[in-house]
Amino acid sequence: MTDNHTPADLPERIQHYIDGAFVDSLDGDTFDVLEPVSNTVYLQAASGKVADIDRAVAAAKKAFDEGPWPRMLPRERSRILHRIADIVESRDKRLAELESYDSGLPITQALGQARRAAENFRFFADLIVAQADDTYKVPGRQVNYVNRKPIGVAGLITPWNTPFMLESWKLGPALATGNTVVLKPAEFTPLSASLWPEIFEEAGLPAGVFNLVNGFGEEGFAGDSLVKHPDVPLISFTGESRTGQIIFANAAPFLKGLSMELGGKSPAVVFADADLDAAVDATIFGVFSLNGERCTAGSRILVERSIYDEFVERYAAQAGRVKVGYPHDPATEVGALVHPEHYEKVMSYVEIGKTEGRLVAGGGQPEGFETGNFVAPTVFVDVPPTARIFQEEIFGPVVAITPFDNDDEALSLANNTKYGLAAYIWTNDLKRAHNFAQNVEAGMVWLNSNNVRDLRTPFGGVKASGLGHEGGYRSIDFYTDQQAVHINLGEVHNPVFGKQGR
Ligand code: NAD
Repeated sequence: MTDNHTPADLPERIQHYIDGAFVDSLDGDTFDVLEPVSNTVYLQAASGKVADIDRAVAAAKKAFDEGPWPRMLPRERSRILHRIADIVESRDKRLAELESYDSGLPITQALGQARRAAENFRFFADLIVAQADDTYKVPGRQVNYVNRKPIGVAGLITPWNTPFMLESWKLGPALATGNTVVLKPAEFTPLSASLWPEIFEEAGLPAGVFNLVNGFGEEGFAGDSLVKHPDVPLISFTGESRTGQIIFANAAPFLKGLSMELGGKSPAVVFADADLDAAVDATIFGVFSLNGERCTAGSRILVERSIYDEFVERYAAQAGRVKVGYPHDPATEVGALVHPEHYEKVMSYVEIGKTEGRLVAGGGQPEGFETGNFVAPTVFVDVPPTARIFQEEIFGPVVAITPFDNDDEALSLANNTKYGLAAYIWTNDLKRAHNFAQNVEAGMVWLNSNNVRDLRTPFGGVKASGLGHEGGYRSIDFYTDQQAVHINLGEVHNPVFGKQGR
């Protein structure tokens, strides 16, 4: 193994994919893409602007208005989605290799994410053929039914933390329901998305149904242009809460359908009666897996005071044993952060943390990894709730640990941030666990568990962590209109207007 491992056949440039063809930006503009181990530029990606989005939306709209996709039987669309899942599965190692190289995720975790992407397609392929809609009977008078319809062109905007998987999480339901799409992947990590066109073509997806425009998010660039395009009635966005607010405002004049999966600062609460071995293992994994670049990371750990010292000692020791390494090395547990800008942000929080809490593990670059975006798993303890490292999303391998004395204090600390994405609770007291789950301000709660997700369950956050839910039928609801059709079965009993003088 060497530190400058480069996958074979790496492209040197990637283009947009519009109406079944790879194309450059109309103005020819490109941007640099770096790999995070040496931060060298290895790729030029086409940089989309308003005109490129116009072109992609026009293709998607034509495919929606005139093409076969929205008109196919669900079973036919489902077959194509299953083929997509098969192809993704058959290329999982290649996908993982590219994703890991581009994003710095450890290769074993990138492989898990590639398989999860296949599973997302399979899940929505199955769900759409099982889809049944409601009818409402008024005996002898009326039957009313729901006519579910795809909406049109869905704009999908995704972040860089698990790029391919998060794209599949939106593409699966958007396509299953018969919409056509324009995907705008994150500018830090466009590589794995460049594989979708070939996968979709091979699976038999008609041209124009899937369109991909690379580029930045800000005003005048691809993301902003997609949000402001009048022919895109839906935006599904995953990213930072601040970006979500901007998109919300920009979509308002168009009254677009919005689904927002945003940031988090999720608590993991460990009570004294918990299985301590399991709680330590899970809370280590919960914040250091995916390099800590995980929206649902349990990045604040609240520990009951009677076990606090023991927990801290064991936690710090175990964090010190987490293996930081090159992303391509199968032994690596924490790889390189995605980009030097993000690395600087995480490192600035490490410095802030040194003034706000007591550092017991990590705190900088790990030995032997002085170049590239490597951060040692970092643990701050005795962190007060007013601290910035308690309140703000760091999105790296940095955790804040805080003691509590009783259930009420634990709950109030857990709810004491603007976020509300996930919460993890460790206790063997059933009553306490359920009471806590019901009162904690979080879209998703795991009791004595890592965040193992069942794809049927609602996914989403409350407060600054999101708007709306996806997952299972909620995704189908987001990507469809439910038209109510009313049918009269009996005599027509209209109130009579305008009969006088007839
Ligand atoms: P980001 O908000 O900076 O960017 C996300 C995407 O939005 C990118 O594709 C970007 O180009 C685009 N974008 C930026 N400004 C835009 C604008 N004005 N209009 C339209 N598009 C715009 O987020 P990021 O740094 O890529 O990702 C990390 C964030 O994502 C973290 O906050 C993390 O918690 C969050 N996240 C949330 C979930 C979830 O499901 N809740 C999942 C993964 C990541």
